[in-house]
Amino acid sequence: MVIRAGVIGHPIAHSLSPRIHNTWFADHALAGEYNAVDVHPDDLADAIRRLMESGWAGVNVTLPHKQAAYELADIANPVAEAQGAANLLIFSDGKVIADNTDVAGFRRCMGSSVGEGSHHRAVVLGAGGAAGPIIQNVLFCDEIVVINRTSSKAEELARRFGPRVRAGGWEELADLLPDTDYLINATSLGMRGQPALDVDASLLPSHAEVFDIVYAPLETSLLRAARARGLKAVGGLPMLVYQAAPSFKAFTGVEVRNPEAVLKSLEADLS
Ligand code: NAP
Repeated sequence: MVIRAGVIGHPIAHSLSPRIHNTWFADHALAGEYNAVDVHPDDLADAIRRLMESGWAGVNVTLPHKQAAYELADIANPVAEAQGAANLLIFSDGKVIADNTDVAGFRRCMGSSVGEGSHHRAVVLGAGGAAGPIIQNVLFCDEIVVINRTSSKAEELARRFGPRVRAGGWEELADLLPDTDYLINATSLGMRGQPALDVDASLLPSHAEVFDIVYAPLETSLLRAARARGLKAVGGLPMLVYQAAPSFKAFTGVEVRNPEAVLKSLEADLS
């Protein structure tokens, strides 16, 4: 039997997920097919039903559907529930189950030693769909400041995660950075075709770690500036691959053996 799965979004043509999953089907000698499906927000509920009824194992969910997909699901696991958003829907016995593997994806990017010792502050730029899974992973910090163009969205997100998370303003960034352990860009600023992200990485302390979840271009100006200073700096491609691996397991029951191989091949092609 051919395992069928895919990713739904709008737009979706740019998605790298089909390449990642179809590589893994081949690597693990599984008969499978993973496709990108453009789904208009007005058609989301019908599209999910149609895919489930045609025998798909499930779908990944991307912009702009993560919240609506969570709300449409029959059952949500605790990770998706904590986020109020789903990047993965599994179809099982006629039910839609919501999950969120962005949380585990970002955790794996941070490395196994993350959270050891004391950490004063994380600054998260952005309060869109990608910001929640990131905040979830830096809750070990004493303070998490979420900075977003639309401040009401940062405030709403901060409330979801409790008292150590607060909304901040762009104007306080320069004062925050010298005492920041983790700086994470979760906006679309710095992405190809989008305005630049204006952050002065020279203000960060020498132990700071910088993450930019944008992956086109592979090396954003934030990453370049952080690396020039010798800071640990991780781009968006690892998160994309590491959220895909548990999704693949959910579709197939098979653990991805070596996700770094597809990561390396994407890096080589995109650089
Ligand atoms: P989203 O829900 O549309 O959120 C976009 C975020 O960027 C919001 O915080 C938005 O602020 C901010 N933003 C957009 N244009 C801006 C501008 N001109 N000035 C200031 N802020 C601006 O998107 P998302 O799903 O969170 O994704 C954000 C980025 O992360 C995208 O580049 C996406 O490709 C990337 N991403 C990567 C991964 C990965 O696996 N690496 C996963 C998910 C997303 P407002 O709220 O004020 O609009």
